[in-house]
Amino acid sequence: MKYMDEFRDPATAKKLVEEIKRLAPIARGQRDMPLQIMEFCGGHTHTLFKYGIESMLPADIEMVHGPGCPVCVLPMARVDDCVAIAEQPGVIFTTFGDAMRVPGTRKSLLQAKADGCDVRMVYSPMDALAIARKNPERDIVFFALGFETTMPSTALTLLQAHREGLKNFSLFCNHITTPATMRAILTDPDLRLDGFLAPGHVSMVIGAHPYDFVTRDYHKPLVITGFEPLDILQALWMLVKQFAEGRCEVENQYARIVPEAGNVAGLKAIAEVYETREHSEFRGLGNIGDAGIQIREAYAAYDAERKFKLQAAASTHDPEHLKCADVLRGVMKPWECPAFAKTCNPQNPLGALMVSPEGSCAAYYAYGKLAKRKETA
Ligand code: SF4
Repeated sequence: MKYMDEFRDPATAKKLVEEIKRLAPIARGQRDMPLQIMEFCGGHTHTLFKYGIESMLPADIEMVHGPGCPVCVLPMARVDDCVAIAEQPGVIFTTFGDAMRVPGTRKSLLQAKADGCDVRMVYSPMDALAIARKNPERDIVFFALGFETTMPSTALTLLQAHREGLKNFSLFCNHITTPATMRAILTDPDLRLDGFLAPGHVSMVIGAHPYDFVTRDYHKPLVITGFEPLDILQALWMLVKQFAEGRCEVENQYARIVPEAGNVAGLKAIAEVYETREHSEFRGLGNIGDAGIQIREAYAAYDAERKFKLQAAASTHDPEHLKCADVLRGVMKPWECPAFAKTCNPQNPLGALMVSPEGSCAAYYAYGKLAKRKETA
């Protein structure tokens, strides 16, 4: 396959769906519930809805939407920290666009910009570095956010700033790791997951082996997959086949992109710049040990947290009537939140899951949430 269309071919999709339907009852076996398969990544949730894949699946399979959207798991307190940095005199705060609208307890970055702070949307950390070169009298902060997918680019940008001796550039580090987040999900007593679709872009960086604990310690099969509809269908077929054959393995559907050992150069840059935090708060998932990332002491001069002397952020929770935490953990569907499509929508997001296009609430809203609401009414 060389071209995008081939990953969206309806005839191949039909064959895969038929094969999934044939295997699914065997895979489900004597379970009283459908097989609960979590697509960890919001990008996968988006593909599931955009192409109507969920509605093609047999009743023996239920997709559970995971927390794999870094904007969605960002706790409000960290947004408050961003705003506090942006409000410092002389600061230019740079960020990817979707983080600008995430509500904090006081305001979002977009509101801070409207109030006069210099907050700028960039497409890459290197754009932020370019701003730093052009504005030596200003302090440029880049909001380093995301799972392992974005870590190599921020680590390499920091190393470039270090090589150039730039003193006015720093990262506000909010990177998080996928395997530790998966482990937290697996120990959640409210979830009864049977298997995982793992994110292809993260796996392109970390490789396949960091997921070995999922099969070894928790006996849940896992398939790494890409983001086109045929990627997802093929991965679901591989997963269902594992159940039907009584296997429990880490498999790589996305081998055209994901090397077994990951991106060696990227992993080297990550190891040079970053280390894990003992604890970090995730929206909806609470504190997760070793899942958050911080900048190593050797690069403290590029750490906005140290530079602006931020105190450890106090834990903040979404208001009780907003069900972001339950939706994030996969124990509630977006339409079960009382605010969904009423007071909370993409134009006026109350929770982060409606802000990012990868958020499950945004995906439900964009691709058929009303039909789902009717089905369950
Ligand atoms: S609809 Fe809005 S408030 Fe409700 S869970 Fe989704 S993002 Fe949170």
